[in-house]
Amino acid sequence: MSISYKTLPSLLYQEVELNPVSDPKIILFNSDLAHDLGLTEDKEFYTKILSGNDTYFEPTPIAQAYSGHQFGFYNTLGDGRAMLLAELQNKNGHLKDLQLKGSGLTPYSRRGDGRATLSAMLREYLFSEAMTALNIPSTRSLAVVSTGEPVYREKAHLGGVLTRIADSHIRVGTFEFVRNNGTLADIKALADYTINRHYPNLKANENLYLTFLEAVIDRQIDLLINWYRVGFVHGVMNTDNMSIAGETIDYGPCAFLNVFSQDAVFSSIDENGRYSFGNQSHIGLWNLTRFAETLLPLFHENTEEAVKLATAVLEKYRSKYDTKWQVMFSKKLGLSETTPLAFLNELKDFMQTHEADYTLTFIKLSNPELVHDPVYDHEDFIIWHKKWQSLRPDLETMRSVNPLYIPRNKTLETVLHEASSTLNLESFNDFLVILKNPYDYSNIKQAYVLAPLNYDKTYLTYCNT
Ligand code: AMP
Ligand code: MG
Repeated sequence: MSISYKTLPSLLYQEVELNPVSDPKIILFNSDLAHDLGLTEDKEFYTKILSGNDTYFEPTPIAQAYSGHQFGFYNTLGDGRAMLLAELQNKNGHLKDLQLKGSGLTPYSRRGDGRATLSAMLREYLFSEAMTALNIPSTRSLAVVSTGEPVYREKAHLGGVLTRIADSHIRVGTFEFVRNNGTLADIKALADYTINRHYPNLKANENLYLTFLEAVIDRQIDLLINWYRVGFVHGVMNTDNMSIAGETIDYGPCAFLNVFSQDAVFSSIDENGRYSFGNQSHIGLWNLTRFAETLLPLFHENTEEAVKLATAVLEKYRSKYDTKWQVMFSKKLGLSETTPLAFLNELKDFMQTHEADYTLTFIKLSNPELVHDPVYDHEDFIIWHKKWQSLRPDLETMRSVNPLYIPRNKTLETVLHEASSTLNLESFNDFLVILKNPYDYSNIKQAYVLAPLNYDKTYLTYCNT
């Protein structure tokens, strides 16, 4: 067992020392995931390892280097509060990163303390497991350890360490880093490693790297369409938070929509709505354009030619996205994949104008008995609904793509507060159980279906956690 990432050019990582904590306790452990990774399910065994107090998998962990465009501005970053402990093969033979987050200072910590609040790590655990259950590619969470040490973010909080499992932690920003700091051979080494690990079926036809770009774009579109399907707002889609493997990564100021709104923003620092719900597809293309730029010298030795080739691939993004959006939204309505956009947009506009809850609107359609809200008595909805019914929707299909349960912001904050301040995880775990079966229409837990009134308008999420 060794870390394959260490075979890459040395500018891409640095070996790091452990930063032990005083009183580690495992407060969450994902036995199913442990099983899938071939790890013992005896969680106590891991207390010292998943807190970063002791090595076990590898003698020397590493922190990875990367850069990123943060809100449009380029910065050199790197794992400032994370370390890669191991790469493990899961039951399907796929290689997975096992990374600690919140595990202390690294050479990339800059002005940060290398730590994370317990609350933020519990939040990531819950979101990543909820996304996985929603059938959306995501990093996962193996454990949360409380460190017994305070972390200061304006005031003192309990500290936590998350064990994150990912296809890899290679980001758009990793390519930006190597493009800006490495040689052509370094860029090629990273691209070849990534292709081999995440896109092994790409054929080395005319232009392997261009095919690679297109494959990354396709996965990213699929991911963004999935986010749209469930109303997920990532909140901080910087290029360093976009995984080349196509997983949702870095659950910071993210949130799910209650009321449908293209303009929804929850992050306290996203003042211009750069990462608003409706802008995510545009930012996706912006980020992928930055990615394409890093690969230019691999597309063609002549820069002008390379730009032409990349542009042709990037230009397909919009129409691919729009087609997939139409298929997805039609499916949410149980209708044929080619349902006219005008009809789909009518419902979208209704939800936006009348501030209808996004998730509940689709539950209302397939299971009217579950939702009682006067918004659906509006004439506009009634007229649209008649047309929809005349198209003979397939309700079973709808129930397979429209969740009953999402991490509602209000419930989330309540359970997080209790768990992180008292270390009593009872209500957190109850919520987690619900979120693990978001499409279970056979066993309805009404209290978790309901949406809180007007909660979104004042809801804010934070980056610095
Ligand atoms: P994020 O906003 O979590 O995606 O992080 C952006 C960058 O800031 C990454 O390079 C992180 O490693 C770094 N970072 C975030 N929080 C801390 C912290 N408390 N200490 C050190 N680095 C941090
Ligand atoms: Mg990040």
